[in-house]
Amino acid sequence: MLMGPQNLPEQVRIVRNRISSAAQAAMRSVDSVTLLAVSKAQPANKVRAVAQLGVRDFGESYLQEALDKMEALRDLSLTWHFIGRLQANKTRPVAASFDWVHGVDRLKIAERLSEQRPFHAPPLNVCLQVNIAGEASKGGVTTAELPALATAVAALPRLKLRGLMCIPPDQDDPTRHWFASTRRLLEALNAAGAKLDTLSMGMSGDFESAILEGATLVRVGTALFGSRPAATGATQT
Ligand SMILES: *Cc1c(COP(=O)(O)O)cnc(C)c1O
Repeated sequence: MLMGPQNLPEQVRIVRNRISSAAQAAMRSVDSVTLLAVSKAQPANKVRAVAQLGVRDFGESYLQEALDKMEALRDLSLTWHFIGRLQANKTRPVAASFDWVHGVDRLKIAERLSEQRPFHAPPLNVCLQVNIAGEASKGGVTTAELPALATAVAALPRLKLRGLMCIPPDQDDPTRHWFASTRRLLEALNAAGAKLDTLSMGMSGDFESAILEGATLVRVGTALFGSRPAATGATQT
């Protein structure tokens, strides 16, 4: 089902209600959860419509598409999050144009982002992606390697390490225990001296359980925008 912009106010209202109900159930303030609208594969006019409803944070996975949208929406001063897989040869435009990167899982990528972050910009906010279920098909640092990576990334001058991001297994229902494991990893890092404030977890199908386990930022695409238009065949990196 494709939804036109006319449905967006209702979809945004429903998602916001779901977030506040989950926050309430978790005895958390609704302000402790940021709605990150995942706008990959959605046109700029729909992003503009959602921004006009008060959403400030947008997540993109495909670099060229994202850069085009940022240009078209420059007047809105939105906060842009790169949530896709990041290849080493694409770090420079990401470092130049985004405010956050959620999928960092290797020191080499983090070092390049730090070196390439323009000096006029504030430090780039980074979440480390954790391969929480140890899936061979997924990106993310292993839980065993996470502490060393976190220490190394936190020391990079032009980055600000904010927290952890996870994507639980697709077929896994319920996913809540993976969110709990990710939260415990964050707590362990903070107990060892890190100062992390962000848990990026939960998508359209499961963000309530992520909020119950401490998510501070939920990445919601289809529940807000409707289904994504089919890929156009353009290179989506
Ligand atoms: C596409 C995507 C989302 C949003 O998924 P929905 O199911 O549409 O809400 C969230 N996180 C990441 C990393 C994604 O790639």
